[in-house]
Amino acid sequence: MSTDSIASSLATIRGRIAAAAGACGRAPAEVTLVAVSKTHSEDAVRAALQAGQRVFGENRVQEAAQKFPALRDDHPDLVLHLIGPLQTNKVREAVSLFDVIETVDRPRLAEALAGEMAKTGRHPSCFIQVNTGEEPQKAGIAPGDAGAFIADCRDRLGLTVAGLMCIPPLDEPPAIHFAFLRELARRHGVAQLSIGMSADFETAITFGATHVRVGTAIFGARPAGDDRL
Ligand SMILES: *Cc1c(COP(=O)(O)O)cnc(C)c1O
Repeated sequence: MSTDSIASSLATIRGRIAAAAGACGRAPAEVTLVAVSKTHSEDAVRAALQAGQRVFGENRVQEAAQKFPALRDDHPDLVLHLIGPLQTNKVREAVSLFDVIETVDRPRLAEALAGEMAKTGRHPSCFIQVNTGEEPQKAGIAPGDAGAFIADCRDRLGLTVAGLMCIPPLDEPPAIHFAFLRELARRHGVAQLSIGMSADFETAITFGATHVRVGTAIFGARPAGDDRL
């Protein structure tokens, strides 16, 4: 997409976020737009930055490491979220690169993150990813294990559990998953919810989303077969 069309789609999305928030009595500022720039060029990100966007999501450590250091130099207030699966051998790079890691989903990873944070003194905030649909191919802690995992991350490992995140199954209404995650967060005193993507972010806002992760509706379609969910 051109610089102009990225700016105009961002304006459209911001307007839709404000309308959805207003419709359920929330302040638009309660919802952070995470612009998902995976597969899109550094120039596309620059166009979004120029249009005032500061929060971005990437799902691969390597790709983010190539794109973002130069962008950060120019925009020190940029905030980068990791929204894709994290392998333990990439923890060091992830902790140095990301401000928020949304995909903490298993004890071994949580331990590796805690170790790296203790070593470096750099403390990205963490979201726990929950596999609300219990899909075998999808990342995320099983719903039945989530409560104990949240407590362990906080109490034993000292991670900052800022929020919960989920990616609902494609073939189910997302609302039941959003409602489940909201209730899980409430029960465990977790403040933030990363739910909602291009197709369903307005629904997510009515279920309490504090972060919506929107890619296609801002930057356009990604290469076919490269959806990377
Ligand atoms: C790619 C991706 C998104 C963005 O999806 P769109 O449908 O393009 O808005 C959101 N969340 C995660 C975890 C993703 O991998």
